[in-house]
Amino acid sequence: MEELKNTLFYAPKNGYATLTEEQRAEMECYCKRYAAFMDESKTEREATAWTVSTAIANGFKGMVPGMELKPGDKVFYNNRGKSIILAVIGSESLAQGANICAAHTDSPRMDLKPNPLYEESEIAYFKTHYYGGIKKYQWATIPLALHGVVYRKDGSLVTITIGEDDNDPILYVSDLLIHLSADQLQKPAAKVIEGEQLNVILGTEPLNGEGSDLVKLHIMKLLNEKYGITESDFLSAELTIVPAGKCREVGLDRSLLGAYGHDDRVCAFAEIEPLLTMGIPKHTAVCILADKEEIGSVGISGMRSQAFEYFMEMLCDSQGVKLTQCFANSFCLSADVTNAFDPNFAETCDRRNNSKVNYGVAICKYTGARGKSGASDASAEAMGHIRTVLDNAGVLWQTATMGKVDQGGGGTVAGYMADRNIVTVDAGVPVISMHAPIELVSKLDCYMTMLACKAIYLA
Ligand code: MN
Ligand code: MN
Repeated sequence: MEELKNTLFYAPKNGYATLTEEQRAEMECYCKRYAAFMDESKTEREATAWTVSTAIANGFKGMVPGMELKPGDKVFYNNRGKSIILAVIGSESLAQGANICAAHTDSPRMDLKPNPLYEESEIAYFKTHYYGGIKKYQWATIPLALHGVVYRKDGSLVTITIGEDDNDPILYVSDLLIHLSADQLQKPAAKVIEGEQLNVILGTEPLNGEGSDLVKLHIMKLLNEKYGITESDFLSAELTIVPAGKCREVGLDRSLLGAYGHDDRVCAFAEIEPLLTMGIPKHTAVCILADKEEIGSVGISGMRSQAFEYFMEMLCDSQGVKLTQCFANSFCLSADVTNAFDPNFAETCDRRNNSKVNYGVAICKYTGARGKSGASDASAEAMGHIRTVLDNAGVLWQTATMGKVDQGGGGTVAGYMADRNIVTVDAGVPVISMHAPIELVSKLDCYMTMLACKAIYLA
């Protein structure tokens, strides 16, 4: 009976049972590089800048119209500093299609409002508008940092990062003391801290003198002295509040990584790494690091933008191939995170269909909500293809769904890739506490997702 079970049943195993010593060492090195990337890439803008400089250091060139390309050439398109697409030209024509991996580098956070600075009761604050799906109460009373850029009145650019260096001050959103929380604690969690309460404390010391708004004036004076900006410059800025601090090992066995924004930079890094040192693939390998996924893949740097067509058409033009033909024969791994089973909240998941930490890259046939609405829903053929590719490459994989039916759900860029007539499957790293200020992933799953991207590129 045991033998028959082994033959007939699908019985996933914990990845540590099959990990070789060599793989284990590789996994640790890979995760160190990933952690370093995370510490430098807290916004899509920073992730794009990191990728541009790393790509150039590895022989990639900026793609321009009319550029001649040969197999093995490495090119990228920097989409206005907010998203980036890279490619390694394959030995076969683009008419045979490309192997694409698509992740996103934006993460939930609090963006400054266009007119953010104010003083109330002699405390200076920034007003914010949250970006993406957050539980607002999680963002109070934690160390916060300010990241972003400002275009000054004269058109010059200044980059601002406050709260990451050990000598920097941090920023902070307050919560009500427990002693006076009798009413607050009766509210539903969505209303414990509301959107207009996500006000970031900047300072309390007034400038010496007579008049109003002297704390605000003090803060503006400090910003002016250090960055040369005035209050109206906030209008031409992208300043965002993110959790302060570095990516850390978690657990006594150090098997997990805790960081802000694993969703989806953990898949973004998994896509970049194998591409950097790739030789000549059979099919052209394409890596997309998109922006705006957390708010619906909209905007010029989101996955619905024609920027992707612009880049791919430049590649196709260099070979006299029609873009539509290239798309029709392409495959896309929509590399995005999924929910890892959390025994603390077991009732939200279907155990038989949920991903688990340490069981490898999670393949997700469909995402969506309420009857798969919004899902790309990969076909049996597409699932068969990815399963074969991963098995042949020895990549540990598992299946995933986003929680119990009608419990909620989620989306990815998969639908927008499939809209382009590209066969697309969702897959990525299982995450515990997704969209929290600090999220958890397992090192083993990070490593397996990188191997999965590599296998897709080389398929
Ligand atoms: Mn995501
Ligand atoms: Mn997300």
